[in-house]
Amino acid sequence: MRAIDIIAKKRDGLALDKTEIDWFVQNYTLGSLPDYQAAALLMAIYLRGMTRGETVDLTLAMADSGERLDLSDIADYCVDKHSSGGVGDKTTLIVLPLVAACGLPVAKMSGRGLGFSGGTLDKLESIPGFNVQIAGERFKQQAKSIGLVLAGQSVAFAPADGKFYALRDVTATVQSLPLIASSIMSKKIAAGAQGIVLDVKMGSGAFMTTLDAARELAQAMVNIGADAGRDVIAVISDMNQPLGEAVGNALEVIEALDTLRGGGADDLREHCLAIAAHMLRLAGRGVRYTDNAETRALLESKLHDGSAFAKFREMVVAQGGDVQTIDDPTRLPQARVIVPYRAPESTYIAGVAADAIAWGAFELGAGREQKDDAIDHAVGLQVHVKVGDRVEKGQPIVTIHANDADRLERCIARLDGAFTYSATPVERLPLFYDVFRSDSVS
Ligand code: URA
Repeated sequence: MRAIDIIAKKRDGLALDKTEIDWFVQNYTLGSLPDYQAAALLMAIYLRGMTRGETVDLTLAMADSGERLDLSDIADYCVDKHSSGGVGDKTTLIVLPLVAACGLPVAKMSGRGLGFSGGTLDKLESIPGFNVQIAGERFKQQAKSIGLVLAGQSVAFAPADGKFYALRDVTATVQSLPLIASSIMSKKIAAGAQGIVLDVKMGSGAFMTTLDAARELAQAMVNIGADAGRDVIAVISDMNQPLGEAVGNALEVIEALDTLRGGGADDLREHCLAIAAHMLRLAGRGVRYTDNAETRALLESKLHDGSAFAKFREMVVAQGGDVQTIDDPTRLPQARVIVPYRAPESTYIAGVAADAIAWGAFELGAGREQKDDAIDHAVGLQVHVKVGDRVEKGQPIVTIHANDADRLERCIARLDGAFTYSATPVERLPLFYDVFRSDSVS
């Protein structure tokens, strides 16, 4: 087989067969094919697209480019969740201990943030001593003993995706539906769970900025999961404004702890309850999960009786984190300067651009430009308003947590462009737009 023939076939709009896709992915992963040929194929896929069958073949080839995690000795049926990435999205920190407290063990590999998007690992590392490098037997052992482990993605899983993703980043081929769907699903399939809940974000702070694009991506990933024998539920959720209040690493951990103790922002709690309910539903655990009211009551009881919080605390102990910071979150990293950003007039909030808010937190040092940059865990924003709220002139609508005067100024400039206002009442945004299910899930 020759790479040039495969590239030419896709360039001419023809469908590749499984042997061609497997051959290309294997050889590129091994380093036997140069980046320029992989880049040419990626551009051909970007321009010509892929059929459902080709996308599944590409996903499985990438999933099989490294190890596959076997979770069968943890539980008969494991469920994973994945968010396509958003602003203030600390859902994993809440949903995982919550479902683990219901008796569903969860073992998840998460990523770091890049650019304006946050990463679960960075948030967890706000907790002094917390070790995200848990792999192999220890990863499984913790999932078995306490039912919850949250660690970094091992390079051993789906290494082809790591190589392709780095190339896509520098060849303007990221925004391709088959490439995004296969990238996400290859990692999920390699991670071993039979049930997968996908939270596909839509809006100004997300990859997919329109509902049509988000629906297409959700359906494509559900199809891949179904063809690969997995049960998949994909929800489309709003990312036109931040989720919850906090954007920034330690601030998001503090908000997650509040939510795990039964408090927290309404939108965040509702979002987490919905995602957790889908996970329990897939696993078919406990009460009759066809009854949404019973599922919700069970999940709410775990927030209110302290067991979801206790599960998070157990994970922190198991992963070497300083548990005193969990019992008393004022011990988590704190910024030196805390200043309000105020409403310029008495008005309704018409827009809270999630991307501009994220860039505001990035300017403070909460994010990284290059993948090895250091981040400041203490800094970030608390956004106190949602689209549709009424505010009075001078009311603090954001609290800024900063460590540096120049960065604070740059953050304020971002915030000046983040809000739009209306003299007349504005409709609130929904939390969710749609749910897609693989055939196996009724
Ligand atoms: N997240 C991924 O893991 N891959 C993509 O291509 C896009 C988002």
